[in-house]
Amino acid sequence: NVPVVTIDGPGGSGKGTLARLLAHELGWHLLDSGALYRLTALAAVNHGVSLEDEESLKVLAAHLDVQFLAGCDDSSKGGIVLEGEHVENTIRTEEVGAWASKIATLPEVRRALLSRQRAFAEMPGLVADGRDMGTVVFDDANIKFYLTASTEERARRRFEQLQAQGVDVSLDRLLADIKARDDQDSNRAVAPLKPADDAIIIDSTKLTIQEVLDKVLDTMRR
Ligand code: C5P
Repeated sequence: NVPVVTIDGPGGSGKGTLARLLAHELGWHLLDSGALYRLTALAAVNHGVSLEDEESLKVLAAHLDVQFLAGCDDSSKGGIVLEGEHVENTIRTEEVGAWASKIATLPEVRRALLSRQRAFAEMPGLVADGRDMGTVVFDDANIKFYLTASTEERARRRFEQLQAQGVDVSLDRLLADIKARDDQDSNRAVAPLKPADDAIIIDSTKLTIQEVLDKVLDTMRR
């Protein structure tokens, strides 16, 4: 049995960074499941497929031609190649995030991505980052974390991140986007965003990423 740690939570909670650091610390594989939803959405738009066409989206999701380069799945370093094109920066935009959240409401799309996500569970272990890692995809995971932070703090973090990239955006607009995405992710019928019953909940609002990582490692050693 491959050991699996799941990290779920809303966007901007720091779960992506935490998952990457934790996977690095443990020497385990990393699954950035949000990237798969973003890639499916981008592929759809590239191919002129409607984001409401569940049947076509399902086929796209099942046959995604994607490579996670270097460190095999450490997207932040190696980059992501979709149909031969580097798309790491493209898929991280707010626009693609909103598309991803839209198609993530479709049961057939989620089903099509299941086996692809589960295939990441390989020795010596997997850190899985997403919205439904602990509730659906790896519901029998060894340890489950749910990372959260106040909406304002999440918007502020995203704002700083975008400013550092030279992207011009207003904090109010980001706050509205984050609220809209939370709302869509938490209220959809399939695999809504919520902590698994056996998840350990960490509020990162007042914590540095290092403090969160220490907490997680501490819990895992116990
Ligand atoms: O985590 P990230 O912001 O990259 O995810 C983009 C979108 O993909 C989320 O807003 C959510 O709607 C969807 N998603 C999901 N289930 C996951 C990961 C992401 O529904 N496990």
